[in-house]
Amino acid sequence: MSDKIRQFAELVAEIKSHHCSLRDGCQQAVPGDGNIDSPVVFIGEAPGKMEDEVGRPFVGRAGGLLSEALATIGWQREDIYITNVVKCRPPDNRDPLPEEVEEHKKFLARELALINPKLIVLLGRHALHWFLPAEKISDIRGTAKRRGNQIFFPIYHPAAALYDPRLKDTLMSDFKNIPVLLEKIGQLSETKSPVSSIQSSIF
Ligand code: URA
Repeated sequence: MSDKIRQFAELVAEIKSHHCSLRDGCQQAVPGDGNIDSPVVFIGEAPGKMEDEVGRPFVGRAGGLLSEALATIGWQREDIYITNVVKCRPPDNRDPLPEEVEEHKKFLARELALINPKLIVLLGRHALHWFLPAEKISDIRGTAKRRGNQIFFPIYHPAAALYDPRLKDTLMSDFKNIPVLLEKIGQLSETKSPVSSIQSSIF
C-alpha cells in the first residue's frame, strides 16, 4: 500500500471516529471520497439527509445534478475527489455555524495537503466563504482566483440550481470551463511560468 493510500485511510478512519458538537445529532460522519490522485477537488458545504444515511458525500439530489454536470464534460464522479467543509450533517440541514466549521477545518486541510490538487472547485457560498471570505458567490462565480499556491474556481452549489432552476444554465456553463482552466494551469506550470504570468493568463 502506498504511503498516500495509507495516510488517506488513516484520515478517513479519524473522520469517522471523531467527536464534535454535530456528531450526536447525525447518523455518521461523512468523509470525502473519490480519486485521491485527481487534479481537481470539489468542495461542498455539509452532508444532507441522504449523505448522512449512506455515509458518502453528494449522493442525494444535489449529487445527481453534480453527476449530470460532470457528464457534460466527459467526467464521472470516480474521476474526481469530492468532500465537504463540514463532515457531519447539521440538524435540519441548517447552515453550519462558524464554530462547527472551525471544529472540522483540520480534516479539510489534511485532505487538501494529501491530494494537493491543481484546482479546487468551490460549490456554493459556504465553501467560498471558507477560502475567500470577502467574496460573494453571485459576483465571483465562474472566475478563477489564486490564494497562495492554490487556485480556486467558485461556482453555484448544485442544490442552489435545484432550488432555482434559472441558475442551472450558469452552473452548466461554468462546469464547461473546468477542463479548460485545468489545461491552462497544466500548460503554464509545464513552462514553469512565474506566478505573475500565471495570474495574468488565468484571472
Ligand atoms: N450538499 C453538500 O454540500 N454536500 C453534500 O454532501 C450533499 C449536499
